[in-house]
Amino acid sequence: MSWDAVVVGAGPAGSAAARTLALGGARVLLLDRKAFPRDKPCGGAVSARVFPVLPGPLPAGVPSVPIYGTDLRWGRRWAIGLDAPGSGCVVRRADFDAWLLDEAVRAGAEFRPGAVADALEPSGEGVRLRVRGEWVTARRLVGCDGAVSWTARKVGARPGAMAWAMDAVMPDPVAARPLFDFSFGERGYAWAFPRPDGASVGVCSMRRGGLRGTLDRFCAALGRGAAPAPARLWPAPMEMSAVEGWDGRVLLAGDAAGAVHPALGEGIRYAILTGRQAAESILNGTGYAAWFEREMAPEFRAAARMRAFFYALPAPLMKRFMVLPRVRQGLTAIFDGSRTCRDSVGALDALPALLRPR
Ligand SMILES: Cc1cc2nc3c(=O)[nH]c(=O)nc-3n(C[C@H](O)[C@H](O)[C@H](O)COP(=O)(O)OP(=O)(O)OC[C@H]3O[C@@H](n4cnc5c(N)ncnc54)[C@H](O)[C@@H]3O)c2cc1C
Repeated sequence: MSWDAVVVGAGPAGSAAARTLALGGARVLLLDRKAFPRDKPCGGAVSARVFPVLPGPLPAGVPSVPIYGTDLRWGRRWAIGLDAPGSGCVVRRADFDAWLLDEAVRAGAEFRPGAVADALEPSGEGVRLRVRGEWVTARRLVGCDGAVSWTARKVGARPGAMAWAMDAVMPDPVAARPLFDFSFGERGYAWAFPRPDGASVGVCSMRRGGLRGTLDRFCAALGRGAAPAPARLWPAPMEMSAVEGWDGRVLLAGDAAGAVHPALGEGIRYAILTGRQAAESILNGTGYAAWFEREMAPEFRAAARMRAFFYALPAPLMKRFMVLPRVRQGLTAIFDGSRTCRDSVGALDALPALLRPR
């Protein structure tokens, strides 16, 4: 059977791509190795910036906890609270992703669960893909198969940097609003987010080793003993060497394209944005890699620079940095979506002078 597009992976990137393609009149096949609803290691924080790119308001089947602000701290050394009402909500990914998939199917995409592709090659003007022994052909393939992307590897795209995260679900809410503790993880943080059925706790780090012990120490610091099992270790690829392959026949979106915000760890928004744009590029014949370089890469580069600046500060200076009024305002604006790291990164040049002891 021949399709206009095959989308591999039905997370937020894949469902957004498939829905956009189907709404644009394309015949689209959406594959996932899993049946839905399926869970996914994730804090489940959906920033308010995501709402305008969703198919509609969250339905009753996607319960959520609203976010009114954030608490930031460094162990017991310092803590600051940022009030940011309306800055988003926390969901369970099983509910959220199942809803996005339903919307893609409602728009006309054909979904096949339990479908693992094991061969992919260029064919004529498009691609050929083998799924459970059956070959399907398509004009374009959108690789949305997540952080350990088979399609990215197939077209030779590699991440330039990799972060690691481990998460677990606690049965009680732990904190009234999202909490980040920067004393855990290597150039990373630990988090506790209230979610509809308790709390998501986790730690992210630029180093893979020892995360289970770090997560246990964080949970102990929260007064909850060790982290509950199962705790799940997952990579977050960044700075992919390419987001397209085989002369634009294969387009990568979401985690498969390394579209994770290097400072916020936010991936859902970028998965949806890149999935949609990959689909638009196929429908309109416009350049996806050029769009990514223009619209996504500058924010990721600015965020990576801000992250490097922040983690280079020793803990006491970090506190002085965080309590500066312009930093608090800037962070609140970044959390509530009214500013980006790209807008704010220029301000870093003025900060060393402000941090110098008087
Ligand atoms: C611990 C952790 C916490 C996070 N917390 C947050 C957060 O709070 N907020 C936020 O915005 N982001 C968060 N992120 C990032 C976010 O989870 C991802 O960026 C987002 O899920 C990416 O969406 P995606 O559609 O690209 O991939 P995924 O959601 O991973 O979906 C990929 C899909 O592809 C399928 N698949 C994989 N391989 C194949 C294959 N070969 N064939 C067929 N199907 C395949 C998988 O089954 C899966 O359904 C977190 C990440 C981690 C690891």
